[in-house]
Amino acid sequence: MERICQNLQSVLGEIASASSRSGRPVGAVKLLAVCKTFPVEYVQAAHSAGQLLFAENRVQELSEKAPQAPDDCEWHLIGHLQSNKVRLALQYAAWIHSVDSLPLLRRINNIAGEMHRQPKILLEVNVSGEKSKFGLVPDAVEELVLAAQDGGPASCQGLMTVAPLQASERELGTIFASLRQLRDSLVTRTGCPLPELSMGMSGDFQIAIAEGATIVRIGSAIFGRR
Ligand SMILES: *Cc1c(COP(=O)(O)O)cnc(C)c1O
Repeated sequence: MERICQNLQSVLGEIASASSRSGRPVGAVKLLAVCKTFPVEYVQAAHSAGQLLFAENRVQELSEKAPQAPDDCEWHLIGHLQSNKVRLALQYAAWIHSVDSLPLLRRINNIAGEMHRQPKILLEVNVSGEKSKFGLVPDAVEELVLAAQDGGPASCQGLMTVAPLQASERELGTIFASLRQLRDSLVTRTGCPLPELSMGMSGDFQIAIAEGATIVRIGSAIFGRR
């Protein structure tokens, strides 16, 4: 458990230096601690070291862990969301990073309305075009930004991507830069501010920060190997 606190401090230090190296202000990058597969005691340990933002990639695990964690934790869902799990997801997640279709967006809006929730959402983009990945093709994102602007309780905060595991540093830089450029052009075309870019994991967050990440999703560098 002490290990988690040390890991957290060193990740925060690396985020701060990556931010300053790329001329980003302190506090421009939020750390999301990805606790999937780890017990709630790990969440409590990170929480006592000051961490408040946590993420799960499966709704089931989120619904088991979140109620046992301290109340002031903010939960983010970062994995694929099936439409039959939206209600359970919204019960615990303040943010959903993995909105990747118009029907899913509509369902989130309908159910959030019934539940009186105002979830923050990100649109997941498959920038690299990898077949095995979830996410919208870049050309399909604008339609969802416009649909999200059309009213409804869910508010679209920006874009999210997961880079391929085997990508080189150079490819990663290109992928993260593409997500930022897509965001910039959507802001111009739609007038929606889209401030957040959720990109970067344990192995590549420095590169993501250099390309404009505002949220990094870090699991193993904090909690250890899964
Ligand atoms: C597991 C996961 C992460 C964190 O991965 P690490 O390599 O452990 O930092 C980030 N994003 C998503 C979508 C994940 O599923």
